Amino acid sequence: MRSFFLMCSQSRWLREHDAKHRFVRRAVSRFMPGESVSDALAAAVVLRDCSIGSVFTRLGENVTDAAEAAEVTEHYVEVLERIRAMGLGTEVSVKLTQLGLDLDPELCYVNVEKIVKNAGAKSVVWIDMEASNYVDATLELYRRARKVYPNVGICLQAYLHRTADDLASLVPMGAAIRLVKGAYLEPPSVAIPRKSDVDAAFFALAQKMLTDDARAAGVRAAFATHDRKLIRQITEYAQSRGLAKSCLEFQMLYGIQTEEQRRLAREGWKSVVLVAYGSYWFPWYMRRLAERPANAWFVLRNLFAT
Ligand SMILES: Cc1cc2nc3c(=O)[nH]c(=O)nc-3n(C[C@H](O)[C@H](O)[C@H](O)COP(=O)(O)OP(=O)(O)OC[C@H]3O[C@@H](n4cnc5c(N)ncnc54)[C@H](O)[C@@H]3O)c2cc1C
Repeated sequence: MRSFFLMCSQSRWLREHDAKHRFVRRAVSRFMPGESVSDALAAAVVLRDCSIGSVFTRLGENVTDAAEAAEVTEHYVEVLERIRAMGLGTEVSVKLTQLGLDLDPELCYVNVEKIVKNAGAKSVVWIDMEASNYVDATLELYRRARKVYPNVGICLQAYLHRTADDLASLVPMGAAIRLVKGAYLEPPSVAIPRKSDVDAAFFALAQKMLTDDARAAGVRAAFATHDRKLIRQITEYAQSRGLAKSCLEFQMLYGIQTEEQRRLAREGWKSVVLVAYGSYWFPWYMRRLAERPANAWFVLRNLFAT
């Protein structure tokens, strides 16, 4: 099922046809407050009132011309201004292929730099990690940006065999790191195939992000998972080491494990929700179905709902 939905996520035909169906649009609304920035901003206000932080991402990937990448860049600059004007602490998360990585890494860097400069020193611009063929280029761009700007963060995927080495090289830089399990279809030569092994790798990497050396270097440790067992393991580990709750944070997606997001915030942990918006949601939504095929029932239920 996971492979099936991940293959659908790459299908242009499905993207152009299925996304038009009203029942699919209704099903996706479970994971998105709406398609516009105003919808995302309204959601961020509600989250803030529950002591939950937010990160915005405009859905889209693999743009095919420079003008489109420039438009996305301008969009983020404007969104950051709106966030500031509303006094929200919301950060943004970007996909490099939406900022022109496929066209020209230099053009992509210039676009990232523009967003990072406009974010303000305290607001981290997170860089998503995409499929494994982009990891080298993504890390190269990240390292270049991090040498100049402190407010840039990177996502690492626990399922990749290479991630322990990548993490070891990023820790001394004091990187802001968002650890995820990984959402793409990858061969076993590249990614750990068994879910239980990915979970174990996640916990092992999490511990490395919380060492004294990592904290002394200034690493920002963000654990992006809805896995309650892992969240419990990590919080218990942090407490057993006497770490303050402010030493780590948990990030989840809008609409998933909402009660867990609130529980963490209530108990004094930093809880952050990634709010996605925009009209290009089809591949992203297919990856959400791949993570939990039971979500497909929501699509079917919506098909028969009036
Ligand atoms: C803030 C954030 C940023 C991310 N950024 C990236 C990125 O840049 N690159 C990347 O490859 N991946 C990214 N991901 C996705 C990530 O790789 C996983 O695919 C996703 O988080 C599901 O894995 P999990 O850790 O929640 O654990 P799982 O073991 O998949 O899920 C644990 C439990 O959470 C619930 N759950 C998980 N997913 C769903 C869902 N879609 N619908 C309903 N319930 C669900 C279920 O109850 C499930 O049993 C991001 C995830 C988050 C939360």
